[in-house]
Formats: sequence, structure tokens, C-alpha cells
Amino acid sequence: MPDNKYLPRVAYFCMEYGLSEDLPIYAGGLGILAGDILKEAHDAELPLIGVGILWKEGYTSQFIDERGWPYDKPTAYDPDLLQDTGIIIHVIVRGEEIPVRVWRVDAYGNAPLYLLDTALPGSDHGWITNRLYGGGDQDRIAQEIILGIGGVRALEALGHTIDVYHFNEGHAVLAGIELIRQKMAKGKTFQQALDATRREVVFTTHTPVMAGNEAHDHGLLQYMGAYNGLSREHMEIIGDDPFNMTVAGMRLAHIANGVSKLHGMTARSMWCDIDDRAPIVAITNGVHIDTWMHPSIRRAYAANLGLWSPHLEAKRELLQTIAKRAGVQLNPQFMLIGFARRAAVYKRPEFIFHRMDIIEPLLASGRVQMVFSGKAHPRDESGKQVLSKVVEMTRRFPQSVVFLENYDMELGRLLTAGCDVWLNNPQRPLEASGTSGIKAALNGGLNLSVLDGWWLEGCKHGVNGWQFGGGYEGELQSKYDLASLYEVLLEEVIPTYYEHPHQWHKMMRAAVDTAYHRFSAERMLAEYYNILYQPSRTSKLLEEQVLEATMGYRA
Ligand SMILES: *Cc1c(COP(=O)(O)O)cnc(C)c1O
Repeated sequence: MPDNKYLPRVAYFCMEYGLSEDLPIYAGGLGILAGDILKEAHDAELPLIGVGILWKEGYTSQFIDERGWPYDKPTAYDPDLLQDTGIIIHVIVRGEEIPVRVWRVDAYGNAPLYLLDTALPGSDHGWITNRLYGGGDQDRIAQEIILGIGGVRALEALGHTIDVYHFNEGHAVLAGIELIRQKMAKGKTFQQALDATRREVVFTTHTPVMAGNEAHDHGLLQYMGAYNGLSREHMEIIGDDPFNMTVAGMRLAHIANGVSKLHGMTARSMWCDIDDRAPIVAITNGVHIDTWMHPSIRRAYAANLGLWSPHLEAKRELLQTIAKRAGVQLNPQFMLIGFARRAAVYKRPEFIFHRMDIIEPLLASGRVQMVFSGKAHPRDESGKQVLSKVVEMTRRFPQSVVFLENYDMELGRLLTAGCDVWLNNPQRPLEASGTSGIKAALNGGLNLSVLDGWWLEGCKHGVNGWQFGGGYEGELQSKYDLASLYEVLLEEVIPTYYEHPHQWHKMMRAAVDTAYHRFSAERMLAEYYNILYQPSRTSKLLEEQVLEATMGYRA
């Protein structure tokens, strides 16, 4: 990296941040990525500032009731982690002027995180920042007004000069509407203001499920105040009708990225009909090594020592937590498969149980042990349904299948450090990147995964983990994936674990090599700076070269 003084100053906008389990203002991978980016910007002394929201009740704490069904509770954060900046800005929601307090998380020094909060004493607008992804459309739009419009105003009030506004997902796009409004207030035409704003904005898309890309009715947006002084005509030029937040992100930015090479391709074909959008390049996600690598494994890896004994240490720590929380004593000698994710249906947590005739003997003998964790969105009944199926299996095989309640960063760390095998069976190509598998590999865990997201780039079958399935789309996909999963599990994974430990140990090192060198947040952020943030690279010609360079993989 060149002298950091001359690097563009970046404001990174995200609805959620996963920095630590003590500040539970995250729901899943999107927030963990944002947290890892801030931490890496801190370590590498990069001029990057985070903007987010202080969620009073967090996302959710989720436990399992007697019937095996998930139920939710609010969470609380540790106020000692926050500094009051003394700054209060104002935004207009539903015609009312709303005061917003700006807090700062200082732990990351040069890469501070500013959190916006409407729960001021005496204000009755606390509902807006109450719960991450809580409430209905009106709540969501109000939250997005706070993050986007409020975020730009907060940075100004704090005296920050910003060269690049990075919108991580569509939630932040109203920041672009505020940037345009300000330029028009200084006399620019809409088109001039849009062009100038584009030069400042970059956008990351994460969602290959069309329905997951949020869209809003124009009438509602206008009623809530999201137009922010712009006209309906202008808003349609930016986000179409209904107003699609992802489309708006791609029209407000001069360059956009998907989060793995395959996802970049998926996003390009998904949005190929959208005119006037930014080119979409691919920058594959990476993880923050200090956060996700077990210290003993890291020491052994650095000293070129065997990884089995530090792995056993991490595995024992996990088994102790399992014993404490679930009351089950798993056997450290036997193979442990882990699966922990946000409980989205496309991730198929219950998948491995589809053929009981195959899986039952393995579980009954104890040769295969499994640990699951995950939360569903509080109002996602189908997500809760798939979790309850997994919980049912823990009751059927109490000695070999475990479910850990209330998945959070602490559990994520324990699980990805302590499992032997990390299972990942999404419906391809819906897992845009996935990062828990990177965390597992970083600790010598062997991925057993569909070739989706990062694993398409990382996998060397039989060398650093295994791939299965993924060869078909639609109805055949699930049938083929399942047969292929059992085949690889029975013929390769289990025999290697029990009969060829030397080979297993070799694979563990190869897995760490892959994650450590190719899927770190350090590599990811270097690519962000080199490809997305450098103003000298914004000429059309260079964008096309960058696009070519990141096309790489072709299906
Ligand atoms: C890493 C992590 C995620 C994201 O994992 P995916 O594999 O991308 O689903 C979600 N939640 C927590 C707590 C994590 O640590």
C-alpha cells in the first residue's frame, strides 16, 4: 500500500456490524463482514469510517421451547463500549423532525464506528432504532432514512471529509439521495448532481435471491420522507417503480461488486437488463484473522508445527461448551461435523437428515457426531421450521446430535475453531460468498461443501476439503446434491478421518494455507482500495479492464 495519507477517505455504511458478542447489533454474515472490514482497516491503518445504527434491542436472542420451537427475546448491549460524541443531528420522518444522537465505538481507533440512535430521553421516536430488521415497511424505511440521510449529516456534523461513500447492501442508498439533494441545493441540476454523486459512491450487493432485494412503493417512500426533496420522476430514474434499493445502489454508484467470483457473475446476469448501472466486479469476502483464528492454532501454524494438537485443544473447548449448554458429552476421538448459520431455507440445515437409512447407523454408532447452531429471523416461520427439524434430530440422537441455542459471534468462534468438518449445503448459487467456511478452514477444519460462493475458488477436492453436488439447477439439484453428499461422506471423509490420519493432518494444513493467504480481510480490503476506492481508476476504460480481470471464472 502507498502512504496511507494519500488514500481516499472512505465512509462505509451498513445496517449491521458484528464487532463482538457484547455489541449485538448484527444478524449474520453481512454484519460480520462489516465488522471484519472495520477491524482490518484499523490494523492496516486505512482511513475508513463506519456508519451504522445503535439497535437498542439488538436483533434477537433465540432459544428453543419444550416443543422444539424457536422463541425470541430482545438483547442488550454493553453501554461502556460507546462514547457519546455530543452531536445530535436531525432528519425528517413522516413530516416530523427527529433528533438523532451520534455515538462512537472507539475500540478501532483510526477506523471509528459511528452509531445513530433515535432513543433520546423524552423523544417518542425511539421505535425507529429499536430492533434490527424489526417492524414492517414503514419501520424499515424510517430506519433507512436514519442510516442514509442521517449518516451523511452525522459525518458532516462530525467534521469528516469523505472521498468515497461505500454502501454495503441497498439499506444505505438514501445516503445517495441526500448527497444529490445537497448538490442541487447548491445550484446543480438533478443530472449534474447525480453524476457528481456517482463519482463518490461505490456499492456492494449481496443478495442473489430476487425477492431478497428490497423494493418499496413510491407513495410510501414519499409519505415517510425518503424523497428528501427530490421528485418522483428523479426517484424513478434512480430506483425504478417500485423503488428497488439494489437497483438504486447500482445507479448511484460508479462501480459495484459482488462478494465472490460466482456471485459477481450471478449479479451481472441478474441485473443485465438494468440500464445505466455501474459495472459489477467481484471481490471475494475474507475474514479478520485475529478475530477468527484460534491462538494456539495460529501459533502452531506460524511455527510450522503440527496442527492436530492445537485442533484438539479447540475441539475440547467446544465440547466443554456443548456439555455446559446442552448437557451432552461428545467424544473427542470421534469425528465432529459442524453446521452453524442464519436459518435461511436456502441454506438447508436439515439436509443431511433426508435419508435416515444412511445417516442413522453413522449417528447411532457415534462415528459421526454433529453440532448445529443458528437463528431464524423472528418472523420467518419457514426458517423456524427448518431449525425445529434439526432440534427434532437432537431428540432422536441425543448422544450424537446437538443444537446450541442463540448463535452469536462467541459460538461462531468456538464452532469454526473446534469442528473437524464444516458442512455447507446451500442451493447453489444462493450462497453469495459464505464466510463461516473460511473461518473453519482458517482453523484447520475441512470444508465439505457445495461449490458455491468462496468455495468455488478455494476448493481443491481431497487436498484442502471436499466438494459435492452443485451440478444441476431446479428439481434435480436437491436429489443430486444429496446423493453426492453421502457418497463423499462415506467414501472419502469418514475413511480419511478414521483410517488415514496422516492424510487428514496434511489436509488441515492445506486448508489453513488456503484461508490464511487467499481469504483474509487483508486481501479483501487491499482489493477494495485498489479496485473500488481509487479515484484514478474510475475512467470507463479502466473499469472495463477491472471487470475483465475479475470475470475470471466462467460457468
Ligand atoms: C461467520 C458468521 C456468520 C456468517 O456465516 P455464513 O457462512 O456466511 O452464513 C453468521 N453469523 C455468525 C455469528 C458468524 O460468526
